[in-house]
Amino acid sequence: MKKFAGLRRVVVENGAERYGHCRRILENTRGIPVEPGEERSLKGNSKDMDMEKGVLRLLAYPGELLKPCPGTNGYICCGYQILNTGTNCPMDCSYCVLQAYVNQPSLRVYVNVEERLQEIGRIIDGQPQKVFRIGTGEFADSLALDSALEWSRVLVPFIQNHGNAVLEFKTKAARGEGLLGIEARDRVVVSWSLNSPIIASKEEHGAPTIQKRLEAARRCQDEGFAVGFHFDPLIEHPGWKDSYRRTVELIDKYVSPNRILWVSLGCLRFMPSLKPIIRKRHPGSGVLRGEFILAMDGKMRYFKPVRVEMYRFMRDCLMDWNSDCGLYLCMESDEVWEASLGWSPKDTEGLAAYLDQRAKKVFHLALDS
Ligand code: SF4
Repeated sequence: MKKFAGLRRVVVENGAERYGHCRRILENTRGIPVEPGEERSLKGNSKDMDMEKGVLRLLAYPGELLKPCPGTNGYICCGYQILNTGTNCPMDCSYCVLQAYVNQPSLRVYVNVEERLQEIGRIIDGQPQKVFRIGTGEFADSLALDSALEWSRVLVPFIQNHGNAVLEFKTKAARGEGLLGIEARDRVVVSWSLNSPIIASKEEHGAPTIQKRLEAARRCQDEGFAVGFHFDPLIEHPGWKDSYRRTVELIDKYVSPNRILWVSLGCLRFMPSLKPIIRKRHPGSGVLRGEFILAMDGKMRYFKPVRVEMYRFMRDCLMDWNSDCGLYLCMESDEVWEASLGWSPKDTEGLAAYLDQRAKKVFHLALDS
């Protein structure tokens, strides 16, 4: 059971065992103690606990599974669709927004998604002229436990049947065996969340090194997958320019510039409620050291000139590497886009159209009109 070394227990909630996906996960994690359980909430001060990252909780989710990214007031959103497959993650990045967002413990996995894919397929097929850019990495790491959870095995074949949908796995994981064992490749992008090597080693606890992530990206690329990168959150720290440049040099060393679907940039931002949680759970963290303002979406952000400087710097490094990498900003204003990248999609529709074009180009999508 070495590959799931952090897992101490598997909890099967009422009714979950009737799903085939649940039974396969139990088979994959054989040897780890299993117990029945009921849904419960993190209470009161419990957000300073370990969020039960050693407990895998299998359950059927009754709510909506496919939802548009809610965006945030006053900033340009990418028009993404979130496929909710579960919450929480075995890694423990100091800046992780899930620490404030998640109010139920454990690594929660929705074992009924597979049974409800038809319902999602009908939504996708109902708008054949629309590109559905779908991702599973909003509330969890898409591939962190893939050899146990098999999300790649569940979702990659599904997406092959829906020609107007693109599936993104967002991850920091260095293991991609599950994915590589699947024959289908079309309209699947594997995107790695990257940072500077300094931030990766000091703040991204339990995550593979940047080099290991890029070796995994290389393997996926060699095996025919499109690849993407997300520099989010960019964090100001001593030597940040040299350290982020180093990451781009490593990208250049490991990854081919061909078939890069997109690269996003987003500076650190967080709800004020995350601050005391970071202080408590990660007392040695340096991520709160910068100066922040309360922005119009209610989140703490770096001052605009700092954000623009970081984006410009990253743009220059990335453009030197690959001028056709689908660079975009995540949740920024028109003004910051113009000042940083020299152009702006103006609004959410504009950014969605830009990213749809990237998908059409890289995957040769021909959609019904
Ligand atoms: S890898 Fe992502 S989801 Fe997991 S702890 Fe880090 S930021 Fe959170």
